[in-house]
Amino acid sequence: MTAGGSAGTPYDEALATLQAAQGPVPERSRNMIALDADACTSCMLCARECPDWCIELDSHKQTVQPDGGGRPRVVHVLDRFDIDFGLCMWCGICIEVCPFDALFWAPSPGPVATSLVDLLQDREQLGGWLPAVPGREPP
Ligand code: SF4
Ligand code: SF4
Repeated sequence: MTAGGSAGTPYDEALATLQAAQGPVPERSRNMIALDADACTSCMLCARECPDWCIELDSHKQTVQPDGGGRPRVVHVLDRFDIDFGLCMWCGICIEVCPFDALFWAPSPGPVATSLVDLLQDREQLGGWLPAVPGREPP
């Protein structure tokens, strides 16, 4: 999987050749950052601690009724979560500070892109790296 380009292009063929020559990505390598949006509480800690300001997220408040009864609670619902890998320096601070285990290193080939725009990954793209995280079941 690549951050940009579509399957079957000369770019993808060149990438496949390169990856075949490199062999499998080591399990503990820092390649992509995967997001488990269900675990994210929109606490903003990762975005505030990122030294390069490459994480942006939006959320809204929603009132929910707890399953077992009791008083309604206000929770933050994640609307948008982007990481700009054009700015990221792979320091891992976002992953370290997340108190809810919502961010992970995914040892996938990448990020590779044909333009800077392709290096901006949204919530769905970041979630797409989750199956590559060691020890995680596919969603
Ligand atoms: S790895 Fe570092 S630079 Fe990249 S998004 Fe996380 S905190 Fe920011
Ligand atoms: S630190 Fe974790 S829970 Fe908080 S906004 Fe970032 S990914 Fe979501």
